[in-house]
Amino acid sequence: MRAVRLPALGAPALELVDVPMPEPGPGQARIAVTGAGLCGTDLHILHGDYSSRPPVTLGHEVAGRVDAVGEGVDPAWIGALVAPETAFGTCGLCRWCRTGRPMLCAERLSIGSGVDGGFAEAVIVPARLLHRLPDWLDDHAAALMEPLACCCNSLSDPAVIDAGDRVLVLGAGPVGLLAAQVARAAGASVVLGGTSADEERLAIARTMALDTLVVDTPGGVTTLEAWEAARDVDVVIECAGVGAAVATALRVVRPGGSHIQMGLLSGDVSIPFGLVVTKEIRVRAGFGSAPASWWRAVDLVAARAVDLVPLVSVVLPLRDWPVAFDRMASRTGLKSVLDPRMA
Ligand SMILES: [Zn+2]
Ligand SMILES: [Zn+2]
Repeated sequence: MRAVRLPALGAPALELVDVPMPEPGPGQARIAVTGAGLCGTDLHILHGDYSSRPPVTLGHEVAGRVDAVGEGVDPAWIGALVAPETAFGTCGLCRWCRTGRPMLCAERLSIGSGVDGGFAEAVIVPARLLHRLPDWLDDHAAALMEPLACCCNSLSDPAVIDAGDRVLVLGAGPVGLLAAQVARAAGASVVLGGTSADEERLAIARTMALDTLVVDTPGGVTTLEAWEAARDVDVVIECAGVGAAVATALRVVRPGGSHIQMGLLSGDVSIPFGLVVTKEIRVRAGFGSAPASWWRAVDLVAARAVDLVPLVSVVLPLRDWPVAFDRMASRTGLKSVLDPRMA
């Protein structure tokens, strides 16, 4: 089968190669991939600033249909539209594994970095990682279940948003649009903030009836200052992953409010962290997803409280992986999904 792989640490590019079709071992299932989303983490893996174990097939945002199961796995899985949790291998014994937070296990190997992922015609995962998706769900958009589960991990378990809260989401990428929908589903009134470079993305958010704000225009700056003075933004969710947005979040959130850090920051950033003390800001973060957040993500999609379809901007064959990476680097559109069934 064809797979897009990182051949070695420090390799200048990924490679589209032929590898043997993998067979599921005991307790495992094979997913025939219908969609695999490209994410900023994949860019970090390629550049060597997110740990990986090459040679390895990338892709941790995966959806597809189970087409084979190993010994001990219920054959009823075969044919089901599924998305897998990503923590393929964990110690199973440490306090984080035993309390349902496998992403924090020191021995974790995740699909798409530590073991082969979904930028391939098929991927093998332990069957305990599978989540059955509604059969009506678009099998490309289903690749967004993983980032949605990450949002649920940061926002829902435990809940950081109350009904009626005023929530500002900073960052108009796929995670921002998912976090905004999860916050809205929790009963908050939500504004999604992006920069003028995000206009195309903010326009998509408006088609989903989300209010938007362009934060780097004079009008946007004035609005943020007015909100800060009114002290009525209860929660700010930082999804941009840049220091300037973290700083804005800490300034705008009301005293006693919550700052939720979802963006992955590269390197050290300069932020007014003293405000956490003087405003008694509660700071919370989530890293990746947890099993509980997957059940919640599936429930939100099944209830049609979160719509994944508008976030898919382009669907590409595996050989066009460089196009997807270019779109990511230039912040063109929202999610690029690779469909290995395409020639
Ligand atoms: Zn990701
Ligand atoms: Zn562990």
